[in-house]
Amino acid sequence: MEEKMIQLKNITKQYKENKAVNHLNLSINKGEVFGLLGPNGAGKSTTIYMILGLTEPTEGEVYVDGIHATNKPIEVKQRVGFLPDNVGFYEDMTGIENLILTGKLNGLTNAEAEKRAMHWLEQVRMNHASAKKVGEYSRGMKQRLGLADILMKNPEVVIMDEPTLGIDPKGIHELLDLIKNLSEEHGLTILLSSHQLHQVQQICDRVGIFVKGELLAYGDIEELQRKLLDETSILYKVIVKNDNHQLVERLSMESYVDSIDWDGEAYHVKVNREDGGELARFFVSNQYDLLTLQRLSYGLDDIYQRYFQGGEMGD
Ligand code: ADP
Ligand code: MG
Repeated sequence: MEEKMIQLKNITKQYKENKAVNHLNLSINKGEVFGLLGPNGAGKSTTIYMILGLTEPTEGEVYVDGIHATNKPIEVKQRVGFLPDNVGFYEDMTGIENLILTGKLNGLTNAEAEKRAMHWLEQVRMNHASAKKVGEYSRGMKQRLGLADILMKNPEVVIMDEPTLGIDPKGIHELLDLIKNLSEEHGLTILLSSHQLHQVQQICDRVGIFVKGELLAYGDIEELQRKLLDETSILYKVIVKNDNHQLVERLSMESYVDSIDWDGEAYHVKVNREDGGELARFFVSNQYDLLTLQRLSYGLDDIYQRYFQGGEMGD
């Protein structure tokens, strides 16, 4: 049995007539990197605030390391480090000064705080900038310092709300790399939210697809891909030589065809059967000179499109 670090038991958050989170059940294992993914307005932040004990669920219960988040928010706070989307630092103090201050506010001596600050600055690859004022940091640097700041408090769980927002691609790569490392080397349990599946999926052990307050699917990426293939049609790429562009009309009359699109080069035909034999037979019996009949597989982008359609995408 895997140890559950975060447990959401049937939680709902109701804001007047709007259900921001609707009967959500989810467990996150110790040492796991979990990605809570969904478009803007899905309820990701609300869920995070309920885990942190910052807002109370209308219904249901949250446990962190077995501790009831609403009844014992202080005990939960001791175990969880939270990286909000805008970390507040003293801008006219240096990176290391900020970390030492955090350490001292958390009961460390100056020497202990300094030692720990240097350790975590190195871990987040920020030692080169430790003596620079935070006001001069880029957003990506602030996020990494934010992680170091959280780690000063020795948490068991790290929660990050949209950590990659507003960071350039190189910075995102560095941050994600770092997060993965922290989980592997320090056994931290990490929950991060994002509305950009393709950015964070490579470092998540599992992801949950969250839309309009509901968890539509969760699992590792392969599981999600399998689920998607099971429940939907097969997609073919089709190129024919003697095409007079009547193919769209003719194929859409076939009962096994769900849809057909022309992308300027090839047709994309969705067939609602496991066996694509009928499609191939159509081309043969109608004397089409078939150049390509290729089964396409669903990639992550398809998963994203499919689950997030209807939701607000954008950056
Ligand atoms: P996400 O973080 O996924 O973008 P949020 O959790 O911020 O989504 O919001 C989910 C829904 O709840 C949205 O419809 C939002 O408008 C609503 N909401 C969030 N916070 C509040 C609040 N304090 N009062 C009323 N409605 C809220
Ligand atoms: Mg949010």
